[in-house]
Amino acid sequence: MGTRGRSMIVGLDVDELIVKLNKALADEWLAYYQYWIGAKVAAGPMRGAVAAELEEHALEELGHALLLVERIMQLGGTPLLSPASWYEETNCGYEAPEDFYVEVLLEQNVKGEQCAIDAYQELVQFTKDADLVTYELALQIMRDEIMHEEDLQALIEDIQLMKERR
Ligand code: FE
Ligand code: FE
Ligand code: MG
Repeated sequence: MGTRGRSMIVGLDVDELIVKLNKALADEWLAYYQYWIGAKVAAGPMRGAVAAELEEHALEELGHALLLVERIMQLGGTPLLSPASWYEETNCGYEAPEDFYVEVLLEQNVKGEQCAIDAYQELVQFTKDADLVTYELALQIMRDEIMHEEDLQALIEDIQLMKERR
């Protein structure tokens, strides 16, 4: 099973790649929940717009998790099977949204996105010239994470503008 996915890979340790993809998978699930629960508890100015954006990002992180699992299995690897492993394998960790205020939530998620962008950039470098399929995948997800950060920053700016104009 899954050996076809390996045949195009040149000069790269596939087992190491699978470990990296599983680490990214752990990050995506933790990001999913941080966004999803953040959307529920968000409080303060523009909470509706903030919650909608967080919910949208949650679904997009879930989409990333799916892409990673598909690639891990194409490579003959086993995706992480237990939520306990998310904490063991994560690059970016998990920040519980204990302060519900919108700006604090948004800043926490910005930090998460910046970490995700760095992690995918590393995966892009790791697969460059060796595994075009994973390279394209990492690049595509990295672009999404950059857009996520931009969307969050735009909301932070809007909230700050609103407060200045009162
Ligand atoms: Fe993601
Ligand atoms: Fe993201
Ligand atoms: Mg967005």
